[in-house]
This record gives sequence, structure tokens and C-alpha cells, in this order.
Amino acid sequence: MALLQIAEPGQSSAPHEHRIAIGIDLGTTHSLVATVLSGKAKVLQDEQGRVLLPSIVHYAEQTATYGDAAKAYLTRDPKNTIVSIKRFMGRSQADIKFQHPYTLLGDENQMPAFETAQGRKTPVEISAEILKQLKNRAEASIKQPIQGAVITVPAYFDEAQRQATRDAAQLAGLDVLRLLNEPTAAAVAYGLDQDTQLATDHNYVIYDLGGGTFDVSILRFSQGVFEVLATGGHTALGGDDLDRLLVKWAKKQLSIQQLDDTEYAHFLVEARRAKEALSDADSVELALMDHRLNLDRTTFEAIIKVALDKTINVCKRVLRDAKLDLNDIQNVVLVGGSTRSYAVQKVVREVFQQEPLCTINPDEVVAIGASITANQLIGNQDDGSLLLDVTPLSLGLETMGGLVERLISRNTAIPVARRQEFTTYQDGQSAMLIHVVQGERDMVEHCRSLGRIVLSGIPPMVAGQARIEVTFQVDADGLLTVTARETTSGVHAQIDIKPAYGLSDTDTERLLLDGFFFAEEDKNLRHLSETKVEAQRELEALEQALKVDAQLLDTVQLDALDQAKDKLKAQLQTSDISAIENAVEQLKIHSDAFAALRMNQHIDHALKGTKLDDWSNSTN
Ligand code: ADP
Ligand code: MG
Repeated sequence: MALLQIAEPGQSSAPHEHRIAIGIDLGTTHSLVATVLSGKAKVLQDEQGRVLLPSIVHYAEQTATYGDAAKAYLTRDPKNTIVSIKRFMGRSQADIKFQHPYTLLGDENQMPAFETAQGRKTPVEISAEILKQLKNRAEASIKQPIQGAVITVPAYFDEAQRQATRDAAQLAGLDVLRLLNEPTAAAVAYGLDQDTQLATDHNYVIYDLGGGTFDVSILRFSQGVFEVLATGGHTALGGDDLDRLLVKWAKKQLSIQQLDDTEYAHFLVEARRAKEALSDADSVELALMDHRLNLDRTTFEAIIKVALDKTINVCKRVLRDAKLDLNDIQNVVLVGGSTRSYAVQKVVREVFQQEPLCTINPDEVVAIGASITANQLIGNQDDGSLLLDVTPLSLGLETMGGLVERLISRNTAIPVARRQEFTTYQDGQSAMLIHVVQGERDMVEHCRSLGRIVLSGIPPMVAGQARIEVTFQVDADGLLTVTARETTSGVHAQIDIKPAYGLSDTDTERLLLDGFFFAEEDKNLRHLSETKVEAQRELEALEQALKVDAQLLDTVQLDALDQAKDKLKAQLQTSDISAIENAVEQLKIHSDAFAALRMNQHIDHALKGTKLDDWSNSTN
């Protein structure tokens, strides 16, 4: 695939002046900021020496508190203490299925607002508060104005979630240089994009196992250019699941049938402690109320195997997407707290047959990478390397019969622009509805609708003559712009796709998986739909011809034609592809005879002095 050169903001101006840019990991549970100082990336501390800012905001009537200070209100004033705001970004109320203590305002299909002691607060505003804290911290620590920021987002974030993140940064007064996928940032932190002397392409796997989520990406470094080949993941798979598996095991060992909520919570806390301790010890003791249980590494590995196998399956699928096998992978990078576990490291080592990279603190590695990219984009380091991300889902538009025509397939490197020509279906059609969809299925109804544009003012032409050029453009942040132009007349329409709400991670995953599971069914549906569109076209052409030249047929011929038409119309109500095809064949026997009669008449007409050109223009 051709790689596009990205013109980055700031890259061309004032080459000798040192400019300050920061990288922010805006996380679900905690956020942090890093910057490059004297050529070295480092995370920035607050005045109390803390690096991680819990992503929590508490609203009182007059004041707001953030981070650790806000934590204290979690139990005292949960309704006004907003946690995990990242899970609300770019989502509609209908998307928000998880439990939370908040009162949400607004209608089902919009990103909701929170009702707080300070009134209405949107997820964008609340995220902006967290970003502002980090910006203030950076300014206090660097003592220079911040000129740009790179903010990381999960690889699975869709258009709406990215847009919401960008809006939050703008609201916080940050100049966003780029939104960067979290796993991509991790690879940058390890300098995997710095070795410009490589003679051959290098491929890297980024394995990110956090508390609740799993993400994997494959990056390729080639001739000084860094490209993300493929991404995948699991939205409900992480350290929390390992804890639950441990509790299940403990219950079985102790023959406990039922735990009440408090007991279960206690077991979970102890399981987590034991799990983390096992990262440094060969065996640990679990203290579960009045029971004691010994857990060694071999047993632990067997208990969590089912969860780790799932991560490996995702890795294999992503490798297939990238059309690579294990031998093609030069390095594996570990990200996320759960990769501190020796068991995770062991599985990764065995599967990929190499020692994974895990020397940078897995909590900080994403912010570190973001700061390095920020420093590069602001123009302090011109080593010629570029970062390219990919589209997580295919983008396309609706064509006749509810089919999807894909313009940009999933895992295409961005920024990217693709153009395709379409035409009108009916004579004199003066407007065309362009319906933009996202997903892997063949039928529009199974994909996600992103938006619609109407291209109107198309001058009247016969069907098939208009030339409508549709361009899909995805910028470096993954935001989509769709433009449509009728080229013979120059009529033009455009939308930026900024949907009011986005896909949830689970929706993205469902749309992806559906694409795999329903491939065969989709092929049949597509075939049926295409057959129907074709038959419909045949019928309509015939109607048009009859309007003009019906007098060429005698009543017997007309009857036969009508009967064949009715048969086909009846079959079109069914889903029987071969019956429809048969009916079309039957109709064609009669309509071909009719067409021959018409042609003879026209040729007679032409010979009487009309140019053949006029004839072909009026009937094609
Ligand atoms: P997230 O990004 O999803 O908020 P993190 O990347 O901070 O999560 O990872 C949190 C997870 O890491 C928790 O499940 C925690 O138990 C696990 N974890 C933290 N330290 C260790 C350790 N030393 N060994 C094993 N697991 C650990
Ligand atoms: Mg994380």
C-alpha cells in the first residue's frame, strides 16, 4: 500500500527554536503526562511527587476537586464524583449499558450530560477538566508555555470517541498535534521507530493487558516509516478476570458453594494481592477469612490459562489480518499492569518464541511514547520517520438493494483517501442520497450508519450517464470526510462525519466478528439482492419501452409479455434466487423479441435521415 506523506502542524516553522510539547495518556482509571526534556522522555510529577492522576472529578456547588483529592468523595458523594469518564466519551445513552450511580440528562441517542452539584456537565467537559490538570502540572513543572499535545486513545476508539477526545483537549486549551493509538505510543517508547539502518522490514507486536481490557497491534517499520498493520482486542478481558478465576478456584478448593457480596469482594481483593505477589515469589499464601490456601506458580498458570489463551487467539487473528506469521515478528512489547505477571510474560515468550520487551514501567510507557511523538511533531526532531495508524472498521456506502460498497477496508493505514465513481439508477434522477456506513457485513442493515448526504441539483440525464465521484478521506486522527461531486456538472456536496454518538467497543467487536461469522450468509444475501436489483432494472426498462413503442406488439405478444412480467413481480416477493433468475430469463425471451422490433423500427427511422448517434443517445 502506498504510504502518504503527512504534513504535520508545526513541522516547518522555526526549525532552531526548541518548542515544548507534551504527551498525555488519558486513561479510564488514571491519566498522566510526559514530555521530552534535554532529549530524554520523562513523566511529570505533581507538587507532591505523584505521577498518576486518578481520572476522577468531584463537583461541589462552588468548587471542584480532582484526582486523589476527589477519590475521598467516592463513598461520601458518589453522584457528584465522576469516575471512568472515558467510558462515556462519544457514546449515546443507549450505548451506556454498564452500571453507574449518575443521573444522566439528554435523549437516548445523544452523548448524555451528568447532573451534578454544579449543574449540567458533559463527558467532554469532564475530560477537559482532567486534561487541564495535566496541562497545569506540565506548565508548573516545565515553566514554559505548552505549544502542543499528543493524546492517546484506545485502538478501538471510533470516529465519535476520537472526536469527543479532540473536543475535550481543545476545551482544555491544548493544541492537539495528533491523537495516537495507545499501543502505537508504547512502541515509540521503546524506540522501535528509531532504527533507520535496518536493511529489511521489521514487524512488532504490542501486547497490552490492563485491568479490564486487552489490545494487540502489529506495527511494521520499513525504510524509516512506521506503519500500524493491524489491531484487535477484547473489551472485557484483563487482570480483573484473572482475579475472578482465582476466586473460582479458591471456592472449589474450599468447597464453598456461595459467597455473599462482602465475602466475594474480600476474596477478590485477596486474589489480586496474591496474583501480584506471585510476580515476585514462587508461591504465596491466600488468607481467605478463616481459611488458608497455598498457591504456586504452576497452579496459577493452569488456573488462568483459559484467559491467556483468549489473548493468544486474538494475537493469532491479528497476525492473520496483517498476513504475517510468527517468524516475521522481530519484537513483542508488553504494556498494561497485568503484563508484570511472570505467567503472562511466560505465555507471550512461549507463543512468540522470544524475550518480550518489558523494561519500561507498563503504567508509563504509553505517556512516554506520546511525549516522544509530540516532540517529533512539534518539530524538535526531524528524523524523517512517520507514524501511521489504521482504520478499525471498513468504511463504505449504501448502493442499490441495501448493499454495502466498501471504499476503505478495515486496517487500512491512515491518513487515506479513496475515490470511486457511481452513477444514477433512474432517468432524470436529480438527487442522490449517499449513506455512509461502517462495518464488515455486506448488507447495510447489519452495519453501523455514520451519516447521510444528499447530492442534489444533478442536471437531468438518462440513467447511467451521470458521473458521481465519491471521495472518502480519513485524516491522521481517524476522522472521516465524505465528498460527492457530479463531474459533468460540477455539483458538489460534503460532510464531515461527526456523529452525535459512537460505537461502543463491544459494538465494534461485534461488527468485526459478525463480518467473519456471516461471510457465507452475506454472500447469499448479496447475490439475492443483486439479482433483485437486476430484475427490477429489467422491468423498469421494459415499462419505459412499452410507454413509447407498445403499438409495435399485437395483443397476443402483449399478453405474453404482461404474463411474464407478472410472474417476475411475484417471484421478486420471495427470496428464491433461482426462481427469480428463471422468471427473468422467461421475461427476456419476450422482451428481446420486443427489443428487436424496436430496433428495426429505429433503424428504419435512422435510414430516413436521423443520425444513428441520436438513436443510440436516446435509448441507451
Ligand atoms: P487499566 O489500564 O486497564 O486501568 P492497568 O494497566 O493499570 O489497567 O493494569 C491493572 C491490572 O494490572 C490489575 O488487574 C492489576 O492487578 C494488575 N497488576 C498490577 N501489578 C501487577 C503485578 N505486579 N503482577 C500482576 N498483575 C499486576
Ligand atoms: Mg492501560
